[in-house]
Amino acid sequence: MTGTHPRNTAPMQASPRCGARTRDGGTCSAPAIQGTARCRMHGGARRSGAPRGNRNAQTHGLFTRAAKAEAGQDRLLLDEAERLLQELK
Ligand SMILES: [Zn+2]
Repeated sequence: MTGTHPRNTAPMQASPRCGARTRDGGTCSAPAIQGTARCRMHGGARRSGAPRGNRNAQTHGLFTRAAKAEAGQDRLLLDEAERLLQELK
């Protein structure tokens, strides 16, 4: 900038900072997006991140606790039947 107009950068300098951990082990010093604790590059941008109620990792089908317990019960029953058949031989 040329000229002699004094620029008031104090509010800009005093704005809250991001604070995300960086690769060099320090903290990001970019200004945080208003209403968030992160900058535009670290998840502060609008509509960034996972949608609310994301259930991609939800366990279902044969891998639920209930299904595994049922499989265990089935196994016990089959083992018992097998033992019984061996005794009858
Ligand atoms: Zn950041």
